[in-house]
Amino acid sequence: MKTILNLMVLFTTVQFVTCSGNDNNQYTELNKKMNQIAEQYVKLVLKTGQFDSDYVDAFYGPSEYKPVAAIKDSSAELSTLNSSVDKLLDELEKLGNYKADEIETLRYKFLSKQILSLKSKLFLIGGGTLSFDEESKALYDAIAPTHDENYFQNLITELDKELPGKEDILTRFNEFRKKFIIPKEKLDTVFNAAINKCRKITSGHIKLPADENFQVEYVTDKPWGGYNWYKGNNYSLIQVNTNLPVYIDRAIDLAAHEGYPGHHVYNTLLEQNLYRKRSWVEFSVYPLFSPQSLIAEGSANYGIQVVLPGEKRIKFEKEVLFPLAGLDSSKTEEYYSVLKLISKLDYAGNEAARNYLDGKFTKKQTVNWLMKYSLMPRERAEQRLKFIEKYRTYVINYNLGQDIIKNYIISHGGIDDNPQLRWGLFTKIISTPQTPSGLIVKQN
Ligand SMILES: [Zn+2]
Repeated sequence: MKTILNLMVLFTTVQFVTCSGNDNNQYTELNKKMNQIAEQYVKLVLKTGQFDSDYVDAFYGPSEYKPVAAIKDSSAELSTLNSSVDKLLDELEKLGNYKADEIETLRYKFLSKQILSLKSKLFLIGGGTLSFDEESKALYDAIAPTHDENYFQNLITELDKELPGKEDILTRFNEFRKKFIIPKEKLDTVFNAAINKCRKITSGHIKLPADENFQVEYVTDKPWGGYNWYKGNNYSLIQVNTNLPVYIDRAIDLAAHEGYPGHHVYNTLLEQNLYRKRSWVEFSVYPLFSPQSLIAEGSANYGIQVVLPGEKRIKFEKEVLFPLAGLDSSKTEEYYSVLKLISKLDYAGNEAARNYLDGKFTKKQTVNWLMKYSLMPRERAEQRLKFIEKYRTYVINYNLGQDIIKNYIISHGGIDDNPQLRWGLFTKIISTPQTPSGLIVKQN
């Protein structure tokens, strides 16, 4: 029986021989064996979904893979699932000496990390506990950097000097922000303009299937701000939560993140390139609590800057979105310069989650921390706490995921001055099997 700890080091030692010209027989045999493992993996993910209804975020593969019977004996079934996962890991390990090309190697690493994460998910379902960092490593193949309170206090002191006004910084920031709320009756018009713009720019750089499409729905009472439900066949249902006021910057953020070139494009490309064309069935299922989510959230967040970098975004907002929302366009630059300052506090939310889930903060302390260091008004901080309780270490996927993908793209030359290369690298990441640890660039 493999323990969680030795599972975490497993596969770091497996080396694939990468070669460009394939030995066809071996290639076919490897492909066949990987396909068998992939099929088992999909079935195990679907079975695990019976224990946690949020686990399977999307599935558009063969319907006969779905479990037919409901769970009768949880502990017996969990132990069967565990043994099946161990067996799959053993089978994967045996393939370590095969020759493979680049994409096959990526596939192997992807499957290894996804199955290891599945093993950890079963451990958690069975009542196992891990610290915040152990859990994020086990489920998402990454650990977020740690910052102490002093780090955020210093940033707040700096912001305090730069933000105009006299009240305390939380009040000042939130009073300022109130001038940038999209009136409810204009939300749909503004959001449509934002998503159409992002779609148009994206389709100029990424070849999308002719029938790709989406629908937008406005919902309430959710712990998140927006959600993409990918239904397969190039179609997404995008939901926007309107419980709390929606600020103008959220229009582009959500349009790019949930739509173009974010989740909708990511899922469409994986479905077309890997599942339909190559018949790699592991790409017909999306287990939410897995390394795939770091790639999904990280690319969706970084995609905002790829589709509308800095000045281009401000210009479009000033000329189109602010007027559509009935907001004062002359304030666009000021609004975005304040948001840029605030973005330095991004990692404060991770610390709130880490301290809360590690039992160091009570609910009240967590809400207070979010108000103090993420400058969230109370109701937003309370919504965030609900998100942390439901999705736990998933929170790292957004900002750490974005940083991992951004650093990878920039270190490979995809800078502002070279948008073509940036789009190329971005497209490669979202249309091939990728793992968080495979994209981490060692910083000097
Ligand atoms: Zn997302």
